[in-house]
Amino acid sequence: MSQSALIKRILIVGGGTAGWMTAAAMGKLLAPLKIDVTLLESDQIGTVGVGEATLPHIRFFNRRLGIDEADFMAQTAATFKLGIEFRDWARKGDAYIHPFGDYGRDIKGVPFHHYWLRLRQRGRAWRIGEFSAPVMISEFGRFAMPVEDERSVMSSFSYAYQFDAGLYAKYLRRFAEACGVRRIEGKITTVIQRGEDGFIEAVKTEDGRRVEADLFVDCSGFRGLLIEQTLKAGFEDWSAVLPCDRAVAVPCENAAPSLPYTRATARGAGWQWRIPLQHRVGNGYVYCSEHVSDDEAAQTLMASLEGRPRAEPNFLRFRAGKRRRQWVKNCVSIGLSSGFLEPLESTSIYLIQASVTKLLELFPDRDFRACDIDEFNRAMDLEYERIRDFLILHYHATERDDTPFWDYVRTMKIPDSLAYKMTLFRKRGVVVKYKDGLFLHPSWIAVYLGQRVMPDMYDPRAEFIAEDELEKTLSAMRNLIRKTAESLPDHSDFIRRYCPAP
Ligand code: FAD
Repeated sequence: MSQSALIKRILIVGGGTAGWMTAAAMGKLLAPLKIDVTLLESDQIGTVGVGEATLPHIRFFNRRLGIDEADFMAQTAATFKLGIEFRDWARKGDAYIHPFGDYGRDIKGVPFHHYWLRLRQRGRAWRIGEFSAPVMISEFGRFAMPVEDERSVMSSFSYAYQFDAGLYAKYLRRFAEACGVRRIEGKITTVIQRGEDGFIEAVKTEDGRRVEADLFVDCSGFRGLLIEQTLKAGFEDWSAVLPCDRAVAVPCENAAPSLPYTRATARGAGWQWRIPLQHRVGNGYVYCSEHVSDDEAAQTLMASLEGRPRAEPNFLRFRAGKRRRQWVKNCVSIGLSSGFLEPLESTSIYLIQASVTKLLELFPDRDFRACDIDEFNRAMDLEYERIRDFLILHYHATERDDTPFWDYVRTMKIPDSLAYKMTLFRKRGVVVKYKDGLFLHPSWIAVYLGQRVMPDMYDPRAEFIAEDELEKTLSAMRNLIRKTAESLPDHSDFIRRYCPAP
């Protein structure tokens, strides 16, 4: 590669979570290349201002950047998150936790849930959640750090964070600026493309400034200022299978000690989130506008708050789907500009991280080889499609027919890829395995079983152990997990000692 082909200037358009995560990663991890990284954002337009629940992968992102966890959590008023509790999804009155960790342990190379199914068929009424450390720790409202020693039940889980999105953006901004990222404030009014090939050459702001770059990262949010409005990447609309298209959000006071998990309660035309932070609780109703009005949705939300509201309700609109191509010419879209699959499993920040990581792996030079671009788009398509299937499962695996919304999602046509996975699990309890990416084996088990998708049979190899012995083994496992969970510090106390917000 000739020196003249090196990328010398990057412009990140947008200063929401996507923009600042990208800026922080590029500022830190590309430092040896001495690239000029600039972020341009508009105070006038602002950010979407939500996005407070995360997945465990964010810890690896932070670690790669060298971020100190306790400082990060204190500065963003964060709590720990061990999973998501789903209430009223398959039937009203049901509840289960999708934990960030394993169920039990495989025995003789057979996944644990087959043994659980075997005993269940013999009338043992243990919940699968009783074999999960993060479920039990969540239910007791406790927390302690996982350990590496594989003999301990405390090695069987991971955790994520619940944090204040506004404070998170500020934290990342400080971090990125300390790494040399330059910030410009201004509203882009014009995008200038090169005549010969349509590559983006520069953007112009309302006050007449022209900012040039070699690589543009579009983090401009739903509008997709560069990727869609300029480069016409196209949008794959998935709203037929993920029909929620609006949300109303409001923070409230934290009336009770903070729980180490997010709650998602099914409502008549969607679901409601509850995200406990150190200083407040984030709440929102994600709904389908075909089935409920904005006013009714806001009323439902406000009527179910567990503390006094701390702001006016904030209404948001979106459409489920993704850009047909997330990288076009010299522009890569990251964050909401690349797509959005509603916040049910808190996947957006993960997707930002996945895009940034992939972009760094395939970091281009000014030749912008088609193979790099194709590989980035292929990898991100796969991420989106897998998440889409997992989210649809929550809606489709329901027995609810009490409202037109639930009746629709219960009976809608689902993608073949998901139908295949569900059949395999229903017929013989097998989960389609992936080597990497999001939502591996335990996550699918959690949602299938939590939403009453019960396999017709279990793995015949689960018969290799005598029933008495199996019962004893599982009983001991269950007791150990319960005892361990009960003995841990209270989640709020742990936070007070480890990372109290200033
Ligand atoms: P934005 O925050 O919209 O930022 C866009 C930026 O672009 C802004 O800085 C804006 O000023 C700038 N900009 C736009 N146009 C111009 C212009 N013309 N000139 C200059 N600047 C411009 N994700 C999770 O992981 N967990 C969650 O729990 C979660 N909950 C969510 C709940 C809801 C209801 C919604 C809608 C989203 C949720 N998300 C969640 C997604 C998460 O909020 C976003 O992924 C995240 O905030 C990233 O947004 P962004 O940076 O892409 O866009």
